Formats: sequence, structure tokens, C-alpha cells
Amino acid sequence: MSESSNIPLRTSRDALRGRRVLVIGAGGLGCPALLALADSGAELVIADDDTVELSNLHRQILFDEESVGRDKLDAVRDALVRLGIPETSIELVRSRFLPDNARELARSVDLVLEGADNFATKFLAADACRLERRPIVHGAAIRFVATVWCVAPEGRPCYRCLFEDVPDGDAQPNCNDAGVLGPVVGFAGALMADRALRVLTGVDPPYGRIATYDGRRDVLREVPVPPRGACPLCGPSPRISEIDETRYTAPSCAA
Ligand SMILES: [Zn+2]
Repeated sequence: MSESSNIPLRTSRDALRGRRVLVIGAGGLGCPALLALADSGAELVIADDDTVELSNLHRQILFDEESVGRDKLDAVRDALVRLGIPETSIELVRSRFLPDNARELARSVDLVLEGADNFATKFLAADACRLERRPIVHGAAIRFVATVWCVAPEGRPCYRCLFEDVPDGDAQPNCNDAGVLGPVVGFAGALMADRALRVLTGVDPPYGRIATYDGRRDVLREVPVPPRGACPLCGPSPRISEIDETRYTAPSCAA
């Protein structure tokens, strides 16, 4: 039996008690991730300002038709409480993850799960976690493909090693146009939770390796991400040393 098989399972509730996890976005990625983390014992901090929409129910698996029109946060809290999670272990942040609250939110937790639906938020989360020395798990899904990877607290390689900057609006894939398969998003969210448990327990955290799942071919690959020599965030001469809101201005749907 390998060492990596020693991840606490049912015992993780005690192991993670008092640890705080911020989940950015209670959508298609956040819902399955929260479901998988619900029994971990960690405190769940959830940031979102959206409402539940009927068209998203197929991938936002904590909601049902009675949730439509409600604030996602209220619907998520009720769903988690129904699962037996103490309400005191759930903290709701009724806001998007924004430049003016990003660093404070990152600083207040032990780990960030980024399941945002736009690239601007993804880069913002990457930058805030690097600046606050917090680990982050990034998740994304579009059409048949899901990607998940995590960045260490010291943050190298980081999100900007892979994607240097926020893409132009026209260059961004949009899941409203391209579509996204519900089970693929669910798989990505569950994988984010797996990475979160590995980071929080310190058992084989897969830093610097990106997992890509192709739902058409049923193939999960994991490959290393090489550090970018001149990375503006984690390179030897980083240009990003603060959160400048003008840097995050190209919102578009990615999950
Ligand atoms: Zn980097």
C-alpha cells in the first residue's frame, strides 16, 4: 500500500476541524466540491452573489426546482444543513470575489477553491493567493473537458505560468455558447475537493501538476506545469505585488 493511500477518510472530520476553506462560486464546480467537502470537518466559507437559475440545475447539484430564484448562498446553506453540517461551520460571503475583498478573504482561510465562471476572477484569485501565501485549487470545465490543478502557498508554478494574463473577451471560451456537460463539471468539482483534502492533510498534495479530464474519451491525464521563467507573479522579478483592479477587467463565462 503506498504512502499516498493514507489520506484520512472518515477520520478527516477531526483532522480538518478548524481549518477554513474558501469556495469561490457556488455554481457547477462549487456545488459538487462543497458536497464532497461537507463531511470533512473544515469550515466552509462560500462567496457568491448570484441566484439559482432553472437552466443551471443540471450541473448545480445542491439545488432543486424549489431553489430557483433564491440566493445561491441561502440554498447552499440549507442543502448543507440538510446533510447534517452544522450551520456554524458555514460562512456566507454575499459578494463576488472582488479586488477590494480578495486579499482579506484569502488571508482569512487556509485554502482557496476557485470555481469561478470568468477569467478575471480566476486571475484575481491566483494573484491574491500568491500575495497572501495561501494554496489554491483552480477548477474549470467547458464542453467535454475539465481541468483542475493546485498551486502551493509559495506559488510556483502558478496560474500565470500557465495562462499569462486575462485573455481578451473575444478570445475567451464562453460556456453559454460552447456548452458544458453536467457530469464533466461534477467530476471537476469532485476532483477539486480531492485536491483540497490532499492539500489540507499534507498527504501528497499534487502541486504543479494539472489534471485534465476528457469526458468524450473518458481519459484523465496529469502533467507537470513548468514554471515560467519570467512569470509576472511568481518569477524571480515579479511585476505583480499588489491587487490593481484595472488588471481584472475581462469577465466572461468559463464554467
Ligand atoms: Zn507563475
